[in-house]
Amino acid sequence: MDHDSELRKSLLARREELAERVRRIDKELNHPEEPPAADFAEQASEQENLEVLRALESEGQSELALVDAALQRLDKGEHSRCSTCGGEIASARLSALPWTDTCIACAR
Ligand SMILES: [Zn+2]
Repeated sequence: MDHDSELRKSLLARREELAERVRRIDKELNHPEEPPAADFAEQASEQENLEVLRALESEGQSELALVDAALQRLDKGEHSRCSTCGGEIASARLSALPWTDTCIACAR
């Protein structure tokens, strides 16, 4: 398999994983399986859990957006071009972080 197909494969796998995570979190946020707790301390900890879940969800969504953008760049053959300096992104860096859009120098 060539390098581009490898990248596409890992991006698609990552995308699936993130989409699944966001789906699960979304389900938990919108359809809690447990009824709301009666006592205040438990309510407070449930509230904290919800906040953690929301943070994880938005993290997952922004990572999904990155993966989607990377797939689009891959389609256009631009994925190895740094979006900041226009230079080449090293293929080792792309293998490690397939959704990155900056070269190692710009990422620092
Ligand atoms: Zn750069």
